[in-house]
Amino acid sequence: QSETTSSAPGRYVPASLNPQGYQSVTELLCSACERFSNLPAFTSLGRSLSYRELAQKSDAFAAYLQQHTDLIPGDRIAVQLPNVIQFPVVVLGALKAGLIVVNTNPLYSPKELEHQFKDSGAKALVVFANMAHNVAQIIDKTPIKHVFITEIADFHPPVKRLLINSVVKYIKRMVPAYDLPQAKSLNHILAQGGTLPPKRYQAKLEDIAVLQYTGGTTGVAKGAMLTHANLIANSYQLRERLTEVLIEGKETFIAPLPLYHIYSFVIHGLTLMDVGGHSILIPNPRDLPAFVKELAKWRFTGFIGLNTLFVALCLRDDFKRLDFSALKLTASGGMPLTKAAAERWHSLTGNPVTEGYGLTETSPVVAFNPVGQEQLGAIGLPVAETQVKLIDEAGQPVALGEPGMLCVKGPQVMKGYWQRPDATAEVTTPDGYLITGDIATQAEDGYLRIVDRAKDMIIVSGFNVYPTEVEDCLTSHPDILEAAAIGVEDDKTGEAVKAFLVLVPGATLDKEELRLFCRQHLAPYKVPKQVEIREALPKTNVGKVLRRALREETN
Ligand code: AMP
Repeated sequence: QSETTSSAPGRYVPASLNPQGYQSVTELLCSACERFSNLPAFTSLGRSLSYRELAQKSDAFAAYLQQHTDLIPGDRIAVQLPNVIQFPVVVLGALKAGLIVVNTNPLYSPKELEHQFKDSGAKALVVFANMAHNVAQIIDKTPIKHVFITEIADFHPPVKRLLINSVVKYIKRMVPAYDLPQAKSLNHILAQGGTLPPKRYQAKLEDIAVLQYTGGTTGVAKGAMLTHANLIANSYQLRERLTEVLIEGKETFIAPLPLYHIYSFVIHGLTLMDVGGHSILIPNPRDLPAFVKELAKWRFTGFIGLNTLFVALCLRDDFKRLDFSALKLTASGGMPLTKAAAERWHSLTGNPVTEGYGLTETSPVVAFNPVGQEQLGAIGLPVAETQVKLIDEAGQPVALGEPGMLCVKGPQVMKGYWQRPDATAEVTTPDGYLITGDIATQAEDGYLRIVDRAKDMIIVSGFNVYPTEVEDCLTSHPDILEAAAIGVEDDKTGEAVKAFLVLVPGATLDKEELRLFCRQHLAPYKVPKQVEIREALPKTNVGKVLRRALREETN
């Protein structure tokens, strides 16, 4: 093990995590398409895509890329799509042609898109028609030469397509394709394909498969280079944790998190594919009534979500009426899971929430609770072949149970940041561990708990306050739905805690009563000195609460 994990990141997958000996994620996916050809792989908006169709359509895209464009292996293609079935087709097609996929958030602003396209040097882009207006504003400043445009209706049969298009046009969200004059219709390209079948590019394990952009610690978005080795390793690290749960050809998982996020990409796009699973893609989980209607159609066995979603769904009567009898796995990650949300979900669905932890730089999973042995509030045990250590500011290991900076070594750790060796060095310890930026503790039984992000820590009169602890206390109050805590300047204590709260619909809050409530659970310096009630909290598109945005507007 030490040989595999101490070598340069991104190169190797221990044999235990790659029993089939795949050389690339392309191979893994092609094998799934052959083994499960008649089963549905993805469904979105009433249209299912079988494994066979995925193979055929991605072949057509790869053939077109190889025979009708100047793109060569190693070139980058940005994929800017919501959760629609075009997503897996385009990704597999691009990988077959040897291109590197740059996952792009469809809701990015023109400025963010410009940065990402320039930084990655993307030469091609696949974009959703009703999000193309942002691209149109900046495309001339980027290296993008080939644009493929797709619409919601594209993969539906002709009659339904007409109907959907007229509805979409009616609600005026469709941007005319002339905003991007050079754009080609993805649908036409898939119909056309190439004159010859594609020649599948034989990637090597250490080749980059995906550039995954992340704010990282400095705030400037950087591309984490995730190799074929990284992604195969992590998909098996997850699989190994879920051996009892995943039954070949029998799983239907709900995918409300966007596939462009690495958490969803690996679980639905790799781990589940490898067992012939079916992912129900939810393009817009914020439209809760439509989301619940979709849920009602399936006997789903898995639900991959995060705290914000669990909170929102559990409030709804239509959700409470659903049939959860097939549900075996509810996984949470990406942000802290509050006790209140976990308990509400468990009592409503009968299924406990299994929390995991990870980050973009680790493809993403580092730790996950073993199913059936979940500990509430813990992120579980490190996944297979993964070493973790907790260090203090001097880089020394902390004592058992003490908080320290979580550092990770394993085959899922990225090769580095794209064209940023300095930034990569900043997050690497001298002995080759990735510094996560998160403070954690480890108990005697090995279970890890995330205390908080180091940079979100608040210092009150010299005492460390971790916002997650405060937020967990606040959301255990029956009238509080969501909470975010930040540090604000304070004459006496340097910093003080300020809490932003969203109340349960119809509830009111007495601030003095809340203060007394907090005093029962928290040391006095942790109790919020200021409280502000809001309609909603600022969140990322995935649903993570943006404490940074609150800090910027407050301080
Ligand atoms: P990203 O790279 O955008 O996916 O963000 C990764 C960050 O999300 C981590 O560094 C953590 O701060 C946070 N995170 C992910 N999972 C958890 C979890 N289970 N509990 C607490 N924080 C988490």
